[in-house]
Amino acid sequence: MREKIILHLDMDSFYASVEIRENPALSGLPVIIGADPMEGKGRGVVSTCSYEARSYGIHSGMPISQAYHLCPQAVFLPPIMKKYVRVSESIMQVLRDIGGEIEQVSIDEAYLNLSTDISYENAAEHAAKIKQKIRESEGLTCSVGIAPSRTYAKMASEHHKPDGLTVLPPDQVYGFLSALPVHAIPGIGKKSAQILINAGIILIGDIARIDVQILQEIFGSNAVRLKEIALGTDREGLRISGPRRSISRDHTFQVNIDDATQIMKYLDQMVMSLCQELQERNMYSRTIGIRIRNQNFHTRTKSITMIQPSRDFRILQKTINLLFSDIWTGEPVRLIGVRCSGLVRLNPVQKTLQDYF
Ligand SMILES: [Mg+2]
Repeated sequence: MREKIILHLDMDSFYASVEIRENPALSGLPVIIGADPMEGKGRGVVSTCSYEARSYGIHSGMPISQAYHLCPQAVFLPPIMKKYVRVSESIMQVLRDIGGEIEQVSIDEAYLNLSTDISYENAAEHAAKIKQKIRESEGLTCSVGIAPSRTYAKMASEHHKPDGLTVLPPDQVYGFLSALPVHAIPGIGKKSAQILINAGIILIGDIARIDVQILQEIFGSNAVRLKEIALGTDREGLRISGPRRSISRDHTFQVNIDDATQIMKYLDQMVMSLCQELQERNMYSRTIGIRIRNQNFHTRTKSITMIQPSRDFRILQKTINLLFSDIWTGEPVRLIGVRCSGLVRLNPVQKTLQDYF
């Protein structure tokens, strides 16, 4: 059987890099994309930050007020999703041009299955070409990992950032893994890592050596999978089995909000991201729905089935805005969500003779 070859691509500090490329004066400065810091009193979080900002201990997901206290002189910018979605589309196109199955996992991250008919050397050449193309056409850097499973490919791309290319043929996987700390495995968060460290399990190599029953006490049914990953024998491919029936996005507010303009801004971003995914999957949505949860965790939903399946941002945005004004009572909102369902692939319109003249 052929060895799997999975490529993982992750853009380097994506939103921040896009802003810096458009304003070179920001280059070399700590740049933070996220909520308005309001001189340390702002709410919301850091979306992305430049590597210079990271050296102050700032990272994505951190409260913006904390980021402000760590580095008040940083350049704080609001995210402009429309712009990032456009850049993302052209990056995904570079991947599609290579051919092979693609699994986009976020706006700046995707897996590519290169397993058919190529060697690890060929795969590395492809990766170098992808990186060069993205640098030339978008002026951005990315990090790429190539390995025999989804998990190892992600760990490989993480290993060397920014602008890295890490190739892990099957016979090098175990050597690479065994010396890494346990938290390098995707899905092992701070808490699990601390439990492992307390039990004297510091490196992935320690997980490989330890009895699976001890892992079971900590991780339950996930222990076997974790052991497999640590041993270097995981071979999971892309997660794109069969067409998806629905796709959705949601957002939980840090502080409940009742500002309609603000809520609609988030709805717009979610619709934009869903339209992008529909484009990505070459699908259209027949039904679009909204979900609103209030501070008492009471959830209301409403959806509309359209006459014509669509992935047009303006059409879906307008529909969601209608649904929102229909079910929102003005009460503070804790969570909002948008779902596209009844996904269909439309046959391309048959060309008639006239189209050729
Ligand atoms: Mg990234």
